[in-house]
Amino acid sequence: MKRRKLLMIPGPIEFEPEVMTAVGMATTSHVAPDFIESFGNALAMMREVWLAPTGQPFIMAGSGTLAMDVAGANLVEPGDRALVISTGYFGDRYAELLRRYGAEVTLMKAPTGDVVRPEAVEAELKRSSYRLMTFTHVDTSTAVRVDPEPLGALGEKYGVITVLDGVCSVAGEEIKQDEWKIDVVLTASQKAVGVPPGLALLVASPRAMEVWKNRKTPVGSYYSDWTHWLPVMKAYEERRPAYFGTPAVNLVCGLEVSLRLILGEGMEARFRRHRQRGSEFREAMRDLGLRMIPVSEEVCANTLSAPFYPEGVKGSDFMRAIGSSDVILAGGLLPGIKDTYFRAGHMGSVTEGDILTTVAAVRGALSACGYRK
Ligand code: PMP
Repeated sequence: MKRRKLLMIPGPIEFEPEVMTAVGMATTSHVAPDFIESFGNALAMMREVWLAPTGQPFIMAGSGTLAMDVAGANLVEPGDRALVISTGYFGDRYAELLRRYGAEVTLMKAPTGDVVRPEAVEAELKRSSYRLMTFTHVDTSTAVRVDPEPLGALGEKYGVITVLDGVCSVAGEEIKQDEWKIDVVLTASQKAVGVPPGLALLVASPRAMEVWKNRKTPVGSYYSDWTHWLPVMKAYEERRPAYFGTPAVNLVCGLEVSLRLILGEGMEARFRRHRQRGSEFREAMRDLGLRMIPVSEEVCANTLSAPFYPEGVKGSDFMRAIGSSDVILAGGLLPGIKDTYFRAGHMGSVTEGDILTTVAAVRGALSACGYRK
């Protein structure tokens, strides 16, 4: 009998065996030639996965929140105005984070399940001037997907640095950082990038690096400061040893393998597969009579889904029933409505078989709760 359950939460996800093998190898020195090679390869491949040929990649030990922190700390100075577009929990987190670095934050919050229309964003950018604008590609609390392309164009038009929280989207949802003129695209290893938790990943545009270079005040976080990390990234890419803080050696080895697998699949094919898996799962949920948090198919994420419990089913009962199935799912996250829905991740290595197994587990749990469709 298999002793493990199918992990279908929106991160961490199930990882490819080749990645786990690389992560499980004997740890080497962070300045050993073969590790420098792996680090350098991973940096170069990030540009391809992010579709950001002119970008500066950063690999740091930490979670996605650190990647958010790195962008905020390096690009904001006390008194700067920042526009945060929020489609859920993680957008709200960005507002709080930027305030810590002294930004004056304007928060544009979408109604639950919807996005802020680009026209409304443009009206705000016309009304007052901003240094930086953040938006969440897929907010993992609502499964709402924002279209980053028009927002990147607005950032360019109004001279505002754009930061895309792609923690739940990079290497799953379509992102063309360079073409869409997005200055920073950040993520973490444990989601569609397909490496166990522990790496904060980010690619910054030349314009973002320029803004950072021209700062008048020191970066407010010692650890996140690009002054320390840029020389390290440059050195590894030039295959030279460097040190600021010890890198997560084994995870970086896993990252090299995972990025190679991702590029082997091809970015377009990978985006297409995620759209396919996402729509299969949503269709199955609708067949079961479940409604999604996102208000329309147009704003549904393909990396995870967030269905409401049907009438008469209590969240705690459903989660208990799922707990005794072979599939691991996540409960709700958005304050106020978190007990009314659950979340299923379907990103990275997810197969059609995984979707079918998950749908069967959801059906079984609903049935155990007395729900009949
Ligand atoms: N942003 C988004 C959209 C996320 O989904 C998450 C994690 N679920 C984060 C930021 C924070 O990442 P981490 O938990 O790795 O710090």
